[in-house]
Amino acid sequence: MNAPRLPWCKGGKTLAIALVFLALVVLNIIFAPLGLAIFDAILLLGTGALVIGTENKAEKEVFKNKAKGSELRSLIENTKDGVVMYDTNFTILDVNQSAEKMFNVSREEVLGKQMQPEMVRSPRLRIMVQTIFPSLAVSMNTISDAGWPKVVDLVFDDPRLEVRTILNQITNEKGEVVGFIKIISNNTRENTILQSKSEFLTVSAHQLRTPLTAINWTFESLRSSLGDDFAKKRNEISNLVNEGWELAKRSLKIIDDLLNASKIEEGKFGFDFGKINLVDLMKSLQSAASVVAKEYGITLNLSSASPDYEVKADAEKLGMAVTNILDNAVKYNSKNGTVSIAIEPSEGNTVTVSISDTGIGIPKENLGKIFQKFYRSENAQATEPNGSGLGMYITKNIIEAHGGSVFVESIIGRGTTFWFTLPLETPSS
Ligand code: ADP
Repeated sequence: MNAPRLPWCKGGKTLAIALVFLALVVLNIIFAPLGLAIFDAILLLGTGALVIGTENKAEKEVFKNKAKGSELRSLIENTKDGVVMYDTNFTILDVNQSAEKMFNVSREEVLGKQMQPEMVRSPRLRIMVQTIFPSLAVSMNTISDAGWPKVVDLVFDDPRLEVRTILNQITNEKGEVVGFIKIISNNTRENTILQSKSEFLTVSAHQLRTPLTAINWTFESLRSSLGDDFAKKRNEISNLVNEGWELAKRSLKIIDDLLNASKIEEGKFGFDFGKINLVDLMKSLQSAASVVAKEYGITLNLSSASPDYEVKADAEKLGMAVTNILDNAVKYNSKNGTVSIAIEPSEGNTVTVSISDTGIGIPKENLGKIFQKFYRSENAQATEPNGSGLGMYITKNIIEAHGGSVFVESIIGRGTTFWFTLPLETPSS
């Protein structure tokens, strides 16, 4: 983004030049011999007209610039975001109405005042000083990367304010930095709403989880107490119980996905890292997934280039990430399909785990959305109506928290491959 420039207004010196030319014409006419005087007059009048013409053009330009300047000024003045401009010595050049309201100061009071960090002690200027010197705010979170503009989230207390500030440089014609412009959006209300939305989600998901766990458990024990013989005799009851159990299990998964996604967003999805053997973990996940895979008639196989790939991981969370991929590979597979897991070393002392299925595939145009929250492609919804669309979002977050990356590739109607990388603890041999 280009740094904004201060509007410049150049003075009209050309008017003075034109007057001098006119005076010369008059002097020539009075003092010079007649012929020469006429010749001189024509010449000088021509030059004068040229100068006046240039002057008119320049005036128009100045007028246009002034109009532009006033448009800009009224735009800044009426924007709902606060705007504050200051020079390189932190002397306030301008504030708009919204900034006056936000900082609870008047324009007259701060214009031309040089802001200094110590002024934070002044109750009147505290918020304004904290905005200009963000490290003085109660909390500061830098959003942008290095360079300009700088985007920072700030929290102030008493009164509580949550703002996002965007700071950019103001340069002159030569490109030298002559000041700064800071745009301040007040996000207090939006953040409060978001916070209560996420609290509502967490509380309701927790409330729903308890009865659902009980329903799940009831169906599970009913299912095992019916036994095979009973199932044969009372096929219908058995089917209903199985269906009830499946549904309760899926609903629980959705609730857990919701809870995990909101924990990720709140930064409360803690990890407990330790050294683990990735191949052993993958084998145990394969065996857990094979129960459901059997029901779907899907074959699962695993191959590893080495039996030892040591990674630093939270086994439970990494297990959750892989299970999400494996479950999808099973449920979005075709009849009697296969799921192949391969573990291989990869560049930069990493290990790559790929999970390929022979299923419905993902439309090419939807591949970019797979890791977004709540995204479910149409063909997946038709195959499996239940789903949260959160599994891949959670998976991506978990893999990235382990220092890895996750990718997807797919051919519609042919199958999908998800693969992820993880840094190795010890160099692969
Ligand atoms: P859910 O499975 O609950 O819909 P996920 O977040 O696990 O949500 O997956 C998001 C979407 O990605 C799925 O709805 C589906 O459209 C697509 N998807 C993920 N894995 C596969 C796969 N192996 N085959 C086809 N589509 C997949």
